[in-house]
Amino acid sequence: MGQELSGKVAIVTGGASGIGRATAELFAEEGAHVVIADVDAARGEDVAAKLGAAAAFKRTDVANAEEVQELVDFAVARFGALHVVFNNAGISDGVFGSFLDDDLKNFQRVIAVNLFGVMVGSQRAARHMAKSGGGSIINTTSTAAIKPGRGVMTYRAAKAAVIQFSRSLAIDLAEHGIRVNCIAPGHIPTAMTTSYDMARVIRLNQPLPRQGMPIDVANAALYLASDRSAQVTGLVLPVDGGTTVGSPASLLNEVMAARAKGTAK
Ligand code: NAD
Repeated sequence: MGQELSGKVAIVTGGASGIGRATAELFAEEGAHVVIADVDAARGEDVAAKLGAAAAFKRTDVANAEEVQELVDFAVARFGALHVVFNNAGISDGVFGSFLDDDLKNFQRVIAVNLFGVMVGSQRAARHMAKSGGGSIINTTSTAAIKPGRGVMTYRAAKAAVIQFSRSLAIDLAEHGIRVNCIAPGHIPTAMTTSYDMARVIRLNQPLPRQGMPIDVANAALYLASDRSAQVTGLVLPVDGGTTVGSPASLLNEVMAARAKGTAK
């Protein structure tokens, strides 16, 4: 590996697990100083300890504006600067059936973490970056924000709002040298997706049969964090094996084969 982020200081929210953890590890490997922020202190401390002096953990609930400000202040105090924030912490509303049966009991919390958390994380980091020569803000959305479907309606709505917010913020902050981009992961095995039959989900939704992993998303975050993407802002980058492009050809082949046999409805 190279030193793509040498001299940079990054915050990764949701860095105790899954995509955030893989990203914190990759950023540190690429020479960054990384502050891991999470509500899960035990796991967050553990990830930071394994990364050594290049990393620190700060317990943060991203839905709490005061804690997010403290996180930014902590990063600057500990490592002397802030160049990158990956607003990645997120939760699902966990409702996979019809919206008719959704009691919306998780609405406030999902919006608070997945949307307010991204907005306030972007704002507090950007206030610092605007005074210190710019930076890169990376926000995690989802294929569920791009491709309509049944279930997780609050999650879809929050993640879709993240896209419009981020693209608009890219315009707002460009004059300060701050880039704002989104990553839209799809079907990545993490704590959030343990209940999924991943092989089936991929067969039905994803043109590339390969299983995407947290490191695939981390690699996209590395690109958006590094100066290699210096001319890129307002982008929504799917890391989804083609899920948002269209149905897998294998599925279409099944339909064509059934039609040829006369069994298709
Ligand atoms: P994960 O559950 O492994 O990691 C999420 C992390 O966020 C956890 O460590 C959790 O403790 C932390 N977190 C939750 N609420 C928080 C809060 N209020 N403040 C701070 N930290 C908080 O899941 P993941 O799949 O790695 O999810 C990372 C991001 O990727 C999320 O935004 C998720 O919506 C998004 N995403 C994941 C997938 C996928 O297939 N795994 C697909 C699309 C989008």
